[in-house]
Amino acid sequence: MTTPDRAGLRLMAVHAHPDDESSKGAATTARYVSEGVSVRVVSCTGGERGDILNERLKGDEEILRDLPRVRREEMARAAEILGISHTWLGFVDSGLPEGDPLPPLPEGCFALEPLERTTEALVRVIREFRPHVVTTYDENGGYPHPDHIQTHVVTMSAWRAAGDPEAFPGAGEPWQPLKLYYNGWSAERTERLHEAMLEAGLESPYADWIANLRRRPRRQIFTHVHCADWFEVRDRALLAHATQVDPDGQWFAVPLELQKKVWPTEDYELARSIVPVELPEDDLFAGIVELDDPDELCRRAPERDGDGEPVVAYVGPPALPPLEPGLEPRSTAPQDGDADARDEMREEEGHHE
Ligand SMILES: [Zn+2]
Repeated sequence: MTTPDRAGLRLMAVHAHPDDESSKGAATTARYVSEGVSVRVVSCTGGERGDILNERLKGDEEILRDLPRVRREEMARAAEILGISHTWLGFVDSGLPEGDPLPPLPEGCFALEPLERTTEALVRVIREFRPHVVTTYDENGGYPHPDHIQTHVVTMSAWRAAGDPEAFPGAGEPWQPLKLYYNGWSAERTERLHEAMLEAGLESPYADWIANLRRRPRRQIFTHVHCADWFEVRDRALLAHATQVDPDGQWFAVPLELQKKVWPTEDYELARSIVPVELPEDDLFAGIVELDDPDELCRRAPERDGDGEPVVAYVGPPALPPLEPGLEPRSTAPQDGDADARDEMREEEGHHE
């Protein structure tokens, strides 16, 4: 199979924290880079409120002195490994509130910023980079962290505004991305990997999850991007976030060869498309590569409906209700007093704060 030449196409992945780009959709971005697509990762926050999650680095004075600086360096290394360009949106990590009742979010954090301000910041980057496709998280954040949910809200708002000549006129020339995806979180993938681990006589890292998964609402995922050849690159990028990832942790418990055989794709949920699509699909650019001049369509202000929403050829299913606390897989982790086990469950969710 020859590698298609995708020069001139651009993909933007909007994430909450440095490391999210390496745990969600990283193999997809590495694959598209190899095909000539320009990929930009946007990190909405600097991950300032993360802890050191790697046992071997805990208590390291040099790191503790300035963890945000270390995380910026880790992000630069991951970007190099993935071959992507990177923008810090410049907002401050909201942290993951814990306790009952939950403490209030810290003043000035990303999740409390006025939507106008965060939207304008992202619109500015969209109009500068001019992506044809944008990815973000679903309305539950994929994982109910306040920054992940806010990343969804801001990306939806910016997708709506970026092509509107009347919105944020000081933030660049209007540009309407043609497709918007959510990083898919497939329960079926977890189940299949769990079964394959047991069949191979290996200990499955997903055992505690399986019961909860059945009670969790299923998302409608019809986009499967084949990227098994880039799973190694994904893992190297993730390991570059050395303070956030335990190299001996459960994330790496499933052998790569088994992953490639059992579930060789990363999965996405199509949320909006200006261009007609046929589902299922295996390419984020399906419906765009067929166009003679996709840039021309992005520059044209889209028609709008009565609510000011761009008129689309496809809109994903309505939002699911917020995840109930009992349905979060990480809630099956041992409770207080076993922080390490909790961290491992977060890693399982693909999160490394
Ligand atoms: Zn995150």
